[in-house]
Amino acid sequence: MTILFNDQLIARDEARVDVEDRGYQFGDGVYEVIRVYGGHPFCLGEHLDRLERSAREIRMPLPYSREKTEQLLLQLIETNQLKDGYLYVQITRGAAPRDHAFPSKSEPVLTAYGVESQRPTDLMKNGIRAITQEDIRWLRCDIKSLNLLGAVLAKQAAVDAGAQEAILHRNGTVTEGSATNVFIVKDGTLWTHPANHLILHGITRAVTLKLAEKEGIPVREEAFSLEDLRSADEVFITSTTKEIVPVVEVDGVPVGTGQPGLVTRKLQQAFEQRIGVTV
Ligand code: PLP
Repeated sequence: MTILFNDQLIARDEARVDVEDRGYQFGDGVYEVIRVYGGHPFCLGEHLDRLERSAREIRMPLPYSREKTEQLLLQLIETNQLKDGYLYVQITRGAAPRDHAFPSKSEPVLTAYGVESQRPTDLMKNGIRAITQEDIRWLRCDIKSLNLLGAVLAKQAAVDAGAQEAILHRNGTVTEGSATNVFIVKDGTLWTHPANHLILHGITRAVTLKLAEKEGIPVREEAFSLEDLRSADEVFITSTTKEIVPVVEVDGVPVGTGQPGLVTRKLQQAFEQRIGVTV
């Protein structure tokens, strides 16, 4: 596999990361996961906007201009002949003698690689089971940082319970999933947590909200409670790799009829059309 290491395309085996890289020691860096459909990156501009914002928020300079980063990622897709899958892109503050404070001298390190993977059509069709978990993450979930232990522990709790996602809440207010945004449908209205510091501003979330508007589905970007979640007619999650996936069971209790709902289906169809237009 050919990967991107800073601005060089090299064999994966040839990449060397310093043991004192701050991403490795402190999770001091940011990342993006970008979907590739038919060899084309989906919403690349939005992902690069978010990458730039995340880097700015942690006061980390990016190694290359927007144009150069874009060009390098397109070369990565081309070189690997990536058709359907995703790119993982991460940038750390680089290597320096271990100290929590920013080093006076360090060069950011970019690594990126492509993964061939199909759309999870089974999950989209049949839905998934979710559990609820206290959201123990920090208070800047809007930054797509490498610190993912809160998400790792939540997702593992879901897997241990035989579920596929953990829906997080802070004192009974639903925020998002361990690696997804969460939506509910109640009396025909779509609800999702506002895009503030408590959630990642998902690209798929934003696309879904636009599609809902086009479809004439009323939307409320307002926080909702665990009780709202449990009494919702429909629940679904969104992410770059999952797109729109219905949640048919929460903590062992069926959501609505226990089948993916009509609003979810409508949005899934609209999403497929949106991808069709882009590819
Ligand atoms: N929320 C969290 C915590 C995530 O980690 C992710 C994606 O990994 C998302 C939401 C979904 O974001 P996106 O649609 O940009 O993939």
